[in-house]
Amino acid sequence: MLEKLYPDLYLDKVQDIDLDFLRKHNIKGLILDIDNTLVPHGLEADDNAVAWMERVQAEGFKVCIVSNASKKRVIKFNERLRVAAIHRASKPGTRAFLKALEIMGLMPGEAAVVGDQIFTDIYGGNRLNLLTILVKPIDKKEFFIVRLKRIFEKGILSKYHMESGEKREKRLFKKREILRKNNEGWGQYGN
Ligand SMILES: [Mg+2]
Repeated sequence: MLEKLYPDLYLDKVQDIDLDFLRKHNIKGLILDIDNTLVPHGLEADDNAVAWMERVQAEGFKVCIVSNASKKRVIKFNERLRVAAIHRASKPGTRAFLKALEIMGLMPGEAAVVGDQIFTDIYGGNRLNLLTILVKPIDKKEFFIVRLKRIFEKGILSKYHMESGEKREKRLFKKREILRKNNEGWGQYGN
């Protein structure tokens, strides 16, 4: 059960994502959280975020923002980027992730979820067996509720860190297998 909360990869920042690793796993698109993943909470896309997003797309990956934030906030962030975006996503609900797959024209096995929160980004992605990438929150200043969630996240991550690399690889392999089979029939995920 706890494994549904474990990311497949845990990195310091989005810039550390190994695009060749993603290619090796047949990943063609990224479902991206904004706040504390790409920029500090509430800020517009800065040069760092824009440069990385451009590089990812130049390398052939599709992108779709999936944020629980308001329409106004997502539009503000997206002004410079102008990429596909879903606001009020209700993560860890899976509907927005499915919508993002539809927008990018990808199968679940071809997309990875990137975010800074276990209970929204990672759990939501894992529910669909998507490849999940957790990054460390950019900004330490967070809302009370998020700070509370971080306490639980810390417990989960300490267990996660005790796992062997072999166990993680096995889990990832299992997830990829499930999707490989399901991808043959999209019906299971469609309406
Ligand atoms: Mg976030």
